[in-house]
Amino acid sequence: MISENIKRIKSGIPNHVTLVAVSKYQSLEDTIAVLDAGVYDLGESKVQDFIKKYEVLGDRPRWHFIGHLQKNKVKYLIGKTFLIHSVDSIELIDVIERESKKQGITTDVLLQLNLAREDSKSGILVENLDEVLSIIPGCQFVKVKGLMAMGPFTQNNDKIRKIFVELKRIYDRIKEESVDTAIQMDYLSMGMTDDYTIAIEEGSNMIRVGRKIFS
Ligand SMILES: *Cc1c(COP(=O)(O)O)cnc(C)c1O
Repeated sequence: MISENIKRIKSGIPNHVTLVAVSKYQSLEDTIAVLDAGVYDLGESKVQDFIKKYEVLGDRPRWHFIGHLQKNKVKYLIGKTFLIHSVDSIELIDVIERESKKQGITTDVLLQLNLAREDSKSGILVENLDEVLSIIPGCQFVKVKGLMAMGPFTQNNDKIRKIFVELKRIYDRIKEESVDTAIQMDYLSMGMTDDYTIAIEEGSNMIRVGRKIFS
């Protein structure tokens, strides 16, 4: 039961951690059940699916876009998302800036890092992060609000923890060094069904949970 799953998850996490219910692949009915259970942060990973749900639910939820984002689809998201978690290139930032400017709207984003360096994952490699950050002060309509990463594909908790510790360290470093108001470290989006407990122990304040809510 969705509402019971949510209750169980919420009772196990601290108040300062935002639970994003990853409603990707879920029916409209099950997505609405999440709202009825009192969780208004929803994560979607396909633009097409998001649009369908947005047409019905509008701005009642806070929409989080968490999937790989193609540049030609950016225009469908602008003005509708609370956060885009999956920003992973300068080219994508340029497009978000341009489309946001067209609509006179600022778009809050997280930069996705590929810390596990897995080819199957998108995300910025750590050695390229400063270059990506350097273009943000030149943007008027894109604000960076934090970082997102996925843990590595492994059952080895030490390896998972190591990645989360590294992400937290980078987050803290940017927080300390950034003097530009367009770069604010408010959200550290890490942790999914299998690893959110470790992520919270290592400083996550936003977890993205799918299977544990919907199964
Ligand atoms: C699917 C997905 C999640 C949720 O994963 P679960 O293991 O189902 O909790 C979280 N983050 C991203 C980026 C995803 O694609």
